[in-house]
Amino acid sequence: MTTVQPIEEPAGPQPADRERADDPPGVPDGFERLWTPHRMVYLLGEDKPVDGDAGPQCPFCRAPGRDDAESLIVHRGALAYVVLNLYPYNPGHLMVCPYRHIAGYPELTDEEMVEIARLTRTAIAVLTEVAQPHGFNLGVNQGAVAGAGIAAHLHQHVVPRWGGDANFLPIIARTKALPELLFDTRERLAAAWPG
Ligand SMILES: [Zn+2]
Repeated sequence: MTTVQPIEEPAGPQPADRERADDPPGVPDGFERLWTPHRMVYLLGEDKPVDGDAGPQCPFCRAPGRDDAESLIVHRGALAYVVLNLYPYNPGHLMVCPYRHIAGYPELTDEEMVEIARLTRTAIAVLTEVAQPHGFNLGVNQGAVAGAGIAAHLHQHVVPRWGGDANFLPIIARTKALPELLFDTRERLAAAWPG
């Protein structure tokens, strides 16, 4: 397991910071360094399920069975959990998932729906405290045609946004985050999670 380096209080990623190309790697002092263009070693693998079945072949069913650091889980609720996206759209990209293997939003029980909403609310608060994003995208891609990577297991995205980050989408699309920094991100968010 990785050793988490002491991290100075982040000032919050600024567009100018993210445009610097000469930052040395390995000194994580802000989420923007997730985009250092190294090829990542896949921990969970690009293992999309071969079918829609629940169980170990579903990443969202499998993750809660591993320890938090290994699975990148930030918080476990009673009916749903919060996990970092291994393939983030932006630094700090979280997903809120029911433990139950269901594909559609209408399949949520009232209790699951409320807990997912509460976890989403806390996720926004925690990300705001830790990384000071300027805004958020929240959403569910229901079905492969709508963009869901793992369509069989419902998950709500919580994507922090910063002014100017859209300029980096071409970079994001071609690079992968370093897992060590995802571990650091998870540690920071888990430590800031209330209760
Ligand atoms: Zn599942």
